Amino acid sequence: MTAKIIDGKEIAQALREEWRHRAEKLKDKGILPGLAVIIVGDNPASRVYVRNKIKACHEVGLHSESHDMPEDVSEEMLLKQIEELNHSDKIHGILVQLPLPAHIDDVKVLEAISPDKDVDGFHYYNLGALFTGNMKFPPCTPYGVMCMLDYMNIPLEGKEAVVVGRSNIVGKPMAMLLLEKNATVTICTSRTQDLKSHTSRADILVVATGRPEMITGDMIKEGATVIDVGINRLDDGRLVGDVEFASASEKASYITPVPGGVGPMTIAVLVANTVLSAEKFSGM
Ligand code: NDP
Repeated sequence: MTAKIIDGKEIAQALREEWRHRAEKLKDKGILPGLAVIIVGDNPASRVYVRNKIKACHEVGLHSESHDMPEDVSEEMLLKQIEELNHSDKIHGILVQLPLPAHIDDVKVLEAISPDKDVDGFHYYNLGALFTGNMKFPPCTPYGVMCMLDYMNIPLEGKEAVVVGRSNIVGKPMAMLLLEKNATVTICTSRTQDLKSHTSRADILVVATGRPEMITGDMIKEGATVIDVGINRLDDGRLVGDVEFASASEKASYITPVPGGVGPMTIAVLVANTVLSAEKFSGM
């Protein structure tokens, strides 16, 4: 079997068109949805991510602003900046690009963002809302994956879904969203014994470990849907996922590429959440 590619760029484009239309309705009412991105330090990968997020906002006609802070910025200054943005009428979404330098407490920073502007969905309030089935802002990457599965009409109810990775931003919320759709969900971690015994019975396999090409074709069930969240830069400059694409494509029926898979979806959901937030502010 050679897997059908799930084209994240194409699906993200379709999603953006929908949200552009909704943003235009807001503009007709005099409201321009706005996103503020805070970046601390000079991490080159973070800079690329932020640039792409700002660009995506412009493409949909949103206001966006980047707040660059030096690596040695104090936690107090960062919290002050967030507080200002919490009160700004121009801003409907606030995102702090992770990772933050070691001297800054990420949790404190993420909790300082108003839950009403937390378009990444990382605030405890929004995570709690997700876990109780009352999602306000869908977490960008996992929800982007759900949009892909929906777009490709991949059935989830009663299916075996295996998520490899349990981070708060990808693995755990991913598992919750799959559970909401009545999949039977297993979460694997670095401590899982015999990983292959789990991955090889997955109808839907989502991998988010940050370990380049660790899932190989022999670990995949014939006909599975494989979603590769990982983005890893190898020493030779190549960008690869957490799944070995060539061998996995021989077994899967659907697979996401890296790049061009989950990455564009994450950004599309961020834009969607910013418009959603502006709609809520406007009472729409
Ligand atoms: P984290 O490092 O926070 O979490 C990685 C998870 O993988 C941990 O739960 C860890 O287990 C688990 N893990 C590590 N090694 C293994 C192993 N050998 N077997 C099973 N599980 C393992 O990473 P993130 O969730 O933040 O990101 C994961 C990947 O996704 C990265 O490549 C990142 O760049 C990418 N990413 C891509 C995005 C996109 O838009 N496409 C967005 C966000 C992330 P344990 O908890 O036991 O340590």
